[in-house]
Amino acid sequence: MRFTQEQEEFAAAVRAFCDRECRTLAQRDALTEGGTLANSPEILRKLAAHGWLGVSIPEVYGGAGAGMVEECLFLEETSRGLAPITAYSTGLTAAQTYLRYGTEEQKKEILGGLCAGEVEAIALSEPGAGSDLGSVRIKAALDGDHYVVNGQKTWTSAAHIAKHILLLARTDSSGPKHQGLTLLIVPTDVPGLEIRGIQTMEPRTVNDLFFTDVRVPVSSVVGEAGQAWKHLMRGLSVERLIIATMSLGAAERSLDDVLAYVKEREQFGRPIGSFQAIRHRIADLATEIAYAKAFVYDVAARIDAGEEDQLAREGSMAKLKCTEIAKNSALEAMQMMGGYGYAREYGMEGQVRKALAPPIYGGTNEIQREIISKSFGL
Ligand SMILES: Cc1cc2nc3c(=O)[nH]c(=O)nc-3n(C[C@H](O)[C@H](O)[C@H](O)COP(=O)(O)OP(=O)(O)OC[C@H]3O[C@@H](n4cnc5c(N)ncnc54)[C@H](O)[C@@H]3O)c2cc1C
Repeated sequence: MRFTQEQEEFAAAVRAFCDRECRTLAQRDALTEGGTLANSPEILRKLAAHGWLGVSIPEVYGGAGAGMVEECLFLEETSRGLAPITAYSTGLTAAQTYLRYGTEEQKKEILGGLCAGEVEAIALSEPGAGSDLGSVRIKAALDGDHYVVNGQKTWTSAAHIAKHILLLARTDSSGPKHQGLTLLIVPTDVPGLEIRGIQTMEPRTVNDLFFTDVRVPVSSVVGEAGQAWKHLMRGLSVERLIIATMSLGAAERSLDDVLAYVKEREQFGRPIGSFQAIRHRIADLATEIAYAKAFVYDVAARIDAGEEDQLAREGSMAKLKCTEIAKNSALEAMQMMGGYGYAREYGMEGQVRKALAPPIYGGTNEIQREIISKSFGL
């Protein structure tokens, strides 16, 4: 797709910001306590000051009022530029539900916070409910004008630094499993909520949440009580596009770095990039990425044209393909960099670690294949 001049300039400005703030490992280490944090509040604040957080959120809630194409440009460039702001995408995902179903008050508070650099989390998964999300068990029982929440959530990204959690809870167990589910806003400082980090191969991002008699007012319901499944299903093409676009940016970064490396590194008296075995792999990666980019922005433009609800298949295709490309690009780049690809100093090992989770979260890629194949009547 052809971008407008304004869109090109926006992408270039975000790229320049990342180059200035996050280009070197020393800069990124300083922002993330030596690579142990996935998010830098300082970078989030600076991006907010530029007016770039929530670029697709309406101005009335603190955003820039642009579209999904601009949002994708932002996500692509910040991912390619290694900006430590992974929590922003979590908040942006939650924002889709607030935008559609939140009250004016909820939108002003939560979307306004997101655009100002605050973090928002979304807690769907449970120990017993991953791909089979409809089987969530955490209970929210009505008690006067409050819900009382008891149970556990797991894998909640960024909950430890978030202001609120958008919680999927069961408010009625009498019907089929996809009914009786409700979305509730839970402030992270509410009594009875314990947030415990899960150790993974990446800097801290994910958490177990334990709810013991957590009380939230009924005004915390987002949308209609009992209708959470329907609400969540509607925002999925955007959620998947968000993951796809960040993966696209990650794949581009792996290609940028390996390309620079193979041009410089010499063995047998010549740059390793002159060996056909290397050159052809670079050509393959670049081709895959170019195709992925065209598809991502086609979906984004169609969302901006109002086709969002008809794009479940395409959202899944984008998520599936871009996350696989990001993983393959990082692994291929590591191999082409030899031993140096394995060293932290050269950055590719971080690209590999980062590329392994997106095929799992936001609906595993096996589930995306299920959605795509079902859309063909299979
Ligand atoms: C880094 C990270 C961040 C996350 N962030 C969040 C978050 O912020 N909020 C949140 O709610 N959740 C989050 N998750 C959870 C994530 O969405 C789940 O891990 C994911 O949905 C898979 O669930 P599961 O881990 O229970 O795996 P399972 O559902 O147990 O799946 C295990 C394996 O079986 C396969 N499988 C399952 N069912 C089928 C089927 N019908 N057909 C074919 N294959 C199948 C899966 O594809 C997978 O390979 C995060 C996870 C990770 C790793």
